[in-house]
Amino acid sequence: MKKLVFATLSLLALTAVAENRPQSILLKDWSGPYGGVPPFDKVKVSEFKPTLEWAMQEQRKEIAAIADNKEPATFENTLVALENSGRTLDRVYSIFRIWSSSMSNPEFQAVETDMAPKLAAFNDEIIQNSKLFARIDAIYNSPKKSQLTPEQQRLVWFQETRFILNGAKLDDKQKARVAEINQRLATLMTTFSQNELADEEEGYLALDKADLEGLPQSLIDGAASEGARRKMDGKWLISNTRSSMEPFLTYSPKRELREKAFRIWSARGDNNNSHNNNKLITEILKLRAERSKLFGFKTYADWHLADTMAKDPKIAMDLMLQVWKPAVARVKSEVADMQKLVDAEHGNFKIQPWDYRYYAEKVRKAKYDLDFDLVKPYLQLENIRKAMFWSAGELFGFKFLQVHNVPVYNDTMTVYKVLGKDGKFVGLWYFDPFARPGKNSGAWMNNYREQYKMHGKGITTIVSNNANFIPGKKGEPVFISWDDAVTMFHEFGHALHGLNSNVTYESLSGTNTTRDFVEFPSQMNENYLQTPGVLKFLVNAKGEPLPKELIEKIDHAKTFNSGFSTVEFLASGILDMKLHLIADQDIDPKAFETAALKELGMPSEIVMRHRLPQFGHIFSGEDYAAGYYGYLWAQVLDYDAYEAFTETGDPYNKEVAKKYHDLIVSVGNTEDPAENYRKFRGRDPKVDALLRARGFPVPVPENSTKN
Ligand SMILES: [Zn+2]
Repeated sequence: MKKLVFATLSLLALTAVAENRPQSILLKDWSGPYGGVPPFDKVKVSEFKPTLEWAMQEQRKEIAAIADNKEPATFENTLVALENSGRTLDRVYSIFRIWSSSMSNPEFQAVETDMAPKLAAFNDEIIQNSKLFARIDAIYNSPKKSQLTPEQQRLVWFQETRFILNGAKLDDKQKARVAEINQRLATLMTTFSQNELADEEEGYLALDKADLEGLPQSLIDGAASEGARRKMDGKWLISNTRSSMEPFLTYSPKRELREKAFRIWSARGDNNNSHNNNKLITEILKLRAERSKLFGFKTYADWHLADTMAKDPKIAMDLMLQVWKPAVARVKSEVADMQKLVDAEHGNFKIQPWDYRYYAEKVRKAKYDLDFDLVKPYLQLENIRKAMFWSAGELFGFKFLQVHNVPVYNDTMTVYKVLGKDGKFVGLWYFDPFARPGKNSGAWMNNYREQYKMHGKGITTIVSNNANFIPGKKGEPVFISWDDAVTMFHEFGHALHGLNSNVTYESLSGTNTTRDFVEFPSQMNENYLQTPGVLKFLVNAKGEPLPKELIEKIDHAKTFNSGFSTVEFLASGILDMKLHLIADQDIDPKAFETAALKELGMPSEIVMRHRLPQFGHIFSGEDYAAGYYGYLWAQVLDYDAYEAFTETGDPYNKEVAKKYHDLIVSVGNTEDPAENYRKFRGRDPKVDALLRARGFPVPVPENSTKN
């Protein structure tokens, strides 16, 4: 009873707000060219809260109109109306998310902390609206459903599943508890992410001039500007982010400094300060387990995989364990190679996690005669971008043209309009490449606006790629590492997935696919970095192309260190799944991490790619929770799919590219991904190509994953 009174009160309070529509650009339709663009130049952080609240209230009225409709439920008056609801909220929230990932500051974080549980509660309000669900359910169970188009039927199935999986069928008491849990989770996950960001910003490794030995010039320049930014004259500072720490660990010959750097880097979220994430993890896991039970599932993993390709946690776990064994065997031989170098130098120590990258680089030079320092001068960021554009042109017929007439939120950003095969405008691509305070580390793709074409309205997509490269000196070209170039192709692959989307309904558009499928097009695009056409773009300052012998060496060393990269990834993936397979029990993350890694037989020379207190993928949000395996799952698909191209002798084979476009990247979630994959490849995906690509033995007789 008390709950009800509360709900009424807050509704009244919101109605009072609603009468005063805030005067903010955030509430207006996006105006300007290209079907309207986000008004980044006019955003005021103080306007997020009132506009989000207004936009929620607007959608609340729209939902009520659908749910209370006296007419019988039809696809049009329910599903289409639902698609059309919340357009204002979508626009405000899209910019809100960009500020969260790319423009965060204390003022914004306060708004974020305040709004996260409110947004979660609002989401539940829609899911738990029993009148609304009854209408969706009626359409889903109606014999007339078969008269709808296949995409419409898929949308009905999608919403029915989404509502049921999130508790639409629960009783009022259970619904109230789910809503409570979701609000608490929203707060906890926001705090987790802010803690990680805080430790990344507060931590650094300070170097004197003598400590710069062996470091690449770009890292030294970045460390110098970081010193200047923090007003620590005469010091070079290595920031506590992946893009600075990893190269330091790869190149610094000073073992004590490497250890120091490693300890700062691997302790993010796990320090003795107010940003410690361990307690949050315990509570997040407990709440997720409780909620999954309410939803009728044994564990969180069972619930979260119900609408994926893998469907069953055991199938996902089996795939990871199948790859784990050969990966660990490979690590043993990698470590043996490195230990030989240490012993030859009379190092008198055993390889530790802070030595791995450094000695791996030395082995690479010795064994494969491949020095990535010699490759870097050919990896100008601008040329990588041009190469990505060219490759997308070959595969999908896209053309990218820079535009200057749209606002950006940082003046180092650039914007391109994208034209399709027929010259028709398909969308915009924003590029925000450089690190700065308040920006999440790593690289990602973002959807500012989804493509859809309901009722003849052609809404074009707006996507972005974001990275954390260290800006060079003004006017000078920026050089990135080979790994970063691979990451660029990866994120651009997500962007292409969005740009290729050609569906009717927004909920099924572009990258809105199942979680274990979404990394397929992005990882697929990584393969294209090493195609001859792309390599032509990689020229040094004098315009000389990447020498053939270096290309051959890169190719030869392709499977190098694959033990390390596979094990650090799988350790994170397996622990993620194990954590979410625990039904009810308070988990001490530190003890769990130690015990689970021991049981798994984790090589002592490697740590997880994301230790639990910094595993933002699974604790800052829910998309990758019990879902980190998705990268591997999608990799099975992408290596197998890429072989469909290379088997023809042409990575850009037009016929295969058309199939890939028609069945994989243009359909969003409008068709069953497993079925479409079979149509594309003529069979189920096989894990063999992935094992081959990593240089692991392929078991005989042939083993296939059943999806
Ligand atoms: Zn990705």
